[in-house]
Amino acid sequence: MKANSTVTLIKILVLVCLSGLCVSQDFDFFYFVQQWPGSYCDTKQSCCYPTTGKPAADFGIHGLWPNYRDGKYPQNCDSKNLFDPDKIADLRSSMQKKWPTLACPSGNGVGFWTHEWEKHGTCSESVLDQHGYFQAALVLQKQVNLLQALTSAGINPDGRSYSLSNIKSALQETVGFTPWIECNTDTSGNSQLYQIYLCVDTTGKNLIECPVFPKGKCGSQIEFPSF
Ligand code: 5GP
Ligand code: 5GP
Repeated sequence: MKANSTVTLIKILVLVCLSGLCVSQDFDFFYFVQQWPGSYCDTKQSCCYPTTGKPAADFGIHGLWPNYRDGKYPQNCDSKNLFDPDKIADLRSSMQKKWPTLACPSGNGVGFWTHEWEKHGTCSESVLDQHGYFQAALVLQKQVNLLQALTSAGINPDGRSYSLSNIKSALQETVGFTPWIECNTDTSGNSQLYQIYLCVDTTGKNLIECPVFPKGKCGSQIEFPSF
């Protein structure tokens, strides 16, 4: 190709990108993470119920986290795009039920949602605005009833220990995708089911097989505490 036409081609590409049509690959997929409240609360750090009341004995949303295929992840991507509760006013009562905060001191959830939006949500703002981001997580949670998947396989939040592989297969069979289980430890040092990760494509709408799993390890038998 002649030097002249190469320069023209570069100019065209720059113009296309400047006009926003150039798809910037700012992340590869999401982790959709849900937490078991019993396992957040029975640890050394303990927990505080939200000012809006004790959450249901069910998995709650922790976050929808943009991630790269190599296991790394972006965070705090846009300090100008601050969380604005007014933008999700219509979602607020669902958020209180499905995305409750358990951190101390007790809060109404806004602190937790602010953290999740500013740390993670701003990194997918090219795809989902604030309303779209929180709504996507709520819709995903409706699609996968983790607690029902476990209890229908005889795995109940009763403080007993269950095999990690049985937990994974029960979830895989119902959800259709391989989950990742994160454990933490209770005050006696027992490994327990803390969070369940599923992977979602960059639209925030469709579950996918995880391109990469987080790091960390559970015991082969883990506790499922009550809440
Ligand atoms: P921890 O160090 O307790 O596992 O994680 C602390 C926080 O770092 C998480 O709540 C989350 O905000 C972020 N984080 C940890 N692991 C990952 C990951 O694999 N992907 C993304 N996107 N964020 C993560
Ligand atoms: P991440 O671990 O996503 O970076 O951030 C968790 C942050 O949100 C921590 O600062 C934590 O104190 C706060 N937070 C508020 N409520 C909750 C909750 O219910 N679960 C977890 N894991 N973190 C919460």
